[in-house]
Amino acid sequence: MPFRSYFGLSVGSPDSAILPSLCWTVDSAGAYTVVNEAAAAFFGQPVEALLGTSWLEWVHPSDRGACRDALSKALETGEPFHCEYRLRRRDGEYRWVINTTTPASSATPSFTMTCFDVTSLHEAAERLKIFALAAEQSPISIVITNAHGDIEYVNPKFTATTGYSRDEVVGKNPRILKSGETPPEGYLAMWAELTAGREWRGEFHNKRKDGGLFWESAVIAPVRDNEGKITHYFAVKEDITENKRLAAMVAEAQRRAQAAQRAKNEFLNNMSHELRTPMNGILGMAYLLRESPNDPERDTYLRVLSESTEALLAFMSQLLDLASLSEGATVLHAAPFDVAHCLHDATGLFAAAAAEKGLTIKTRVEAGVPPIVVGDSLRLGQVLANLIGNAVKFSSKGTISVKVMLDPSSASSSSAVGMLFSVQDEGIGIPADKLDIIFEPFERADTSSSRKFGGAGVGLAIARRLVEAMGGRIWAVSRAGHGSTFFFTAQFQPLSGARI
Ligand code: ADP
Repeated sequence: MPFRSYFGLSVGSPDSAILPSLCWTVDSAGAYTVVNEAAAAFFGQPVEALLGTSWLEWVHPSDRGACRDALSKALETGEPFHCEYRLRRRDGEYRWVINTTTPASSATPSFTMTCFDVTSLHEAAERLKIFALAAEQSPISIVITNAHGDIEYVNPKFTATTGYSRDEVVGKNPRILKSGETPPEGYLAMWAELTAGREWRGEFHNKRKDGGLFWESAVIAPVRDNEGKITHYFAVKEDITENKRLAAMVAEAQRRAQAAQRAKNEFLNNMSHELRTPMNGILGMAYLLRESPNDPERDTYLRVLSESTEALLAFMSQLLDLASLSEGATVLHAAPFDVAHCLHDATGLFAAAAAEKGLTIKTRVEAGVPPIVVGDSLRLGQVLANLIGNAVKFSSKGTISVKVMLDPSSASSSSAVGMLFSVQDEGIGIPADKLDIIFEPFERADTSSSRKFGGAGVGLAIARRLVEAMGGRIWAVSRAGHGSTFFFTAQFQPLSGARI
């Protein structure tokens, strides 16, 4: 049913304004003494049949008491009265009437009653009441503005959502809710639609009275009068802040899940590569040796066989190491060791590989570093070996400098010796956006399938865990194409204070 006809707004009302009004007189007992034709037609009875019968009999049983009381009071006071009640029509339907009763000037008390049928007005009022209740109790915000956009009505949900009372916003423009977060083009597009007489749907990022931001999904529609002129705008708005928050959480969770899946796939590909390459080497060489034991290339086959086995073993140890370090607290062994020796031993492991690539490796122990400290030299050596190994792997020229100095950021009051180690190369460098993630397991700066350098992306993750266990931290600075420097700090015990 269209809005206007639902509210009876098209009816000029009262219904009886276009009909002759119902008129009769009753005596002090309420019996009809005179009845006009319109009333007789309304009741569907000849005038004579109605005379002497009781007016109250035609009144709805629920309204009868009030009517009787009103008539008794008029009898006592002689005052006219108005009342609204339901009157039975000839077809049995009750119609709402407004009844004006005036005492007639005659010897015996009698009253003249004139009724107007106001059923449609009454129904419209009832419906408007329901509409008003629905708006007041609505779980979504309702705002009605005039054609200039000034607020005329807001419902309680609006006041609950925004923190503004009705009095604070009536007469104001809804722009009081603006947070500056909704782009101005959004408002322009909205007004273009509304002033053109079309409805608009969209979202606002608004501000509450207390300054808090919230998201609203809104539908705004123009309201037109009988001539089609826009007189008001009607907006229904729902607070979708929570939905937005959940959607963002879901998107973030999805992004993480996808990243984890990607990392897992890369890891599996990489694992497969790291395992298959040496395995193929081992199997291939073993086959050649078995097939032709006296082959002149026998020594080469044996060398490749042992290198492949070593590579496989190294990879397996790395994986096991990471797994055990990830499980819980890392147990470090404490024993006195020579810092310079540790540096030299770690570089020594790569001397041949560096020489083969034409790289120079230099080590330097800065002044102030105690020659002997107490700590886990094997684990320290492992971290250094990883960094030096990477420097060799990712460089094709230049010098690799391995240094240690006293950590300037380490608290001087502490009884421990804080040291700062660095491994600098002139290799391929690392893009800025990868500088952090390379310390995560299975992350590599270059994830392209045509990756030139081997490696499962595990070494730095192990190094980070070891450095943290040694009370330090690890980080890198780099310029892609110009080389990298890896730094790490670690705490050791001075030889004198050590409990050996
Ligand atoms: P792997 O070297 O086995 O891949 P790492 O965890 O040791 O694993 O290193 C992770 C990644 O960090 C490497 O794959 C590489 O992309 C980058 N990286 C590490 N050291 C260097 C370096 N010295 N120069 C350039 N890139 C490096």
